[in-house]
Amino acid sequence: MEVNNLITEFRTADGNVQAVRDVSFFVKKGETLCIVGESGCGKSITSLSIMGLLPNNGIISGGEIKYENQAIHALNAEEKRKLRGSKISMIFQEPMTALNPVLTIGYQLREPFMLHHKVNKKQANIQGIELLKQVGIPYPEKRMKQYPHELSGGMRQRVMIALALAGNPGLLIADEPTTALDVTIQAQILDLINSLKEKLDMGVMFITHDMGVVAEVADRVMVMYGGKKIEEGSVEEIFNQPRHPYTIGLLNSVPNVDDPEFELEPIPGSLPSLTEQISGCRFHPRCQFATEQCRITAPTEFEIGNDHNVSCWLVEEEASNNGRAIGVAK
Ligand code: SF4
Ligand code: MG
Repeated sequence: MEVNNLITEFRTADGNVQAVRDVSFFVKKGETLCIVGESGCGKSITSLSIMGLLPNNGIISGGEIKYENQAIHALNAEEKRKLRGSKISMIFQEPMTALNPVLTIGYQLREPFMLHHKVNKKQANIQGIELLKQVGIPYPEKRMKQYPHELSGGMRQRVMIALALAGNPGLLIADEPTTALDVTIQAQILDLINSLKEKLDMGVMFITHDMGVVAEVADRVMVMYGGKKIEEGSVEEIFNQPRHPYTIGLLNSVPNVDDPEFELEPIPGSLPSLTEQISGCRFHPRCQFATEQCRITAPTEFEIGNDHNVSCWLVEEEASNNGRAIGVAK
């Protein structure tokens, strides 16, 4: 999946506000891209734009989204519905809101098979049970007859993942899927997603605010701030060589249990609201390195090497001074 120069806006009484501002990235089969940032940074709106699930006042007003080289942002409602589940699936933070409380797990699991694969109820049942096994649910035959409220939070999230896999998607979008779960269950679900990614050679786009989760699942990381991508690179690059002051701040605000000397440093200030007009770099009101240039002109994306991209004047200047720059402003 490839996203090029995506702009997503919301129509409000005060005019249009941009939630996603000219963002480009890709996800390959068999890899996990983590999109990380504080809530309100545009990461969930990016995924809803891809899924064609924006609220009524949301529109994609620029750029393109491609899946297997086919433009999918301009599909009609019926075509988008077909795409969801069969090519791209999504799991959410709270499985209770995505599962229908009055239908059995079996009913909900048979439906996608009957819809996408045109099989009869009996065959769909067999495939549903297979899927429950695949996501590590014990006694799947019994679970098929139960209702969502009869399952624990972790089991419900496994059912959601099973549902998402029913159409054999090439891309799984997971939006904070473990935030509502306790730590042990969270680790199990992350393991499950990792192993399914490898087994099914799926691309995974994983949205989170939690750097600990990023370390567990990411192959590549994209950091967003105020609707923009501000840094992108392999998980090793981002954790070992973070360059954008905001990324460095995010990493410093994660507790480090191995280092007793480590002091938590929260990032001062708060994320700008979507309606807030901020000139230049959108992080400048919170950045201790902000210069006049930062306040006036927005930095452009700059590759510092190793497929590591940063949007920051300071980094670009340092790179050109010490020669690390390969000189490609994108
Ligand atoms: Fe800070 Fe300027 Fe870099 Fe923005 S461009 S992060 S304000 S140094
Ligand atoms: Mg969100």
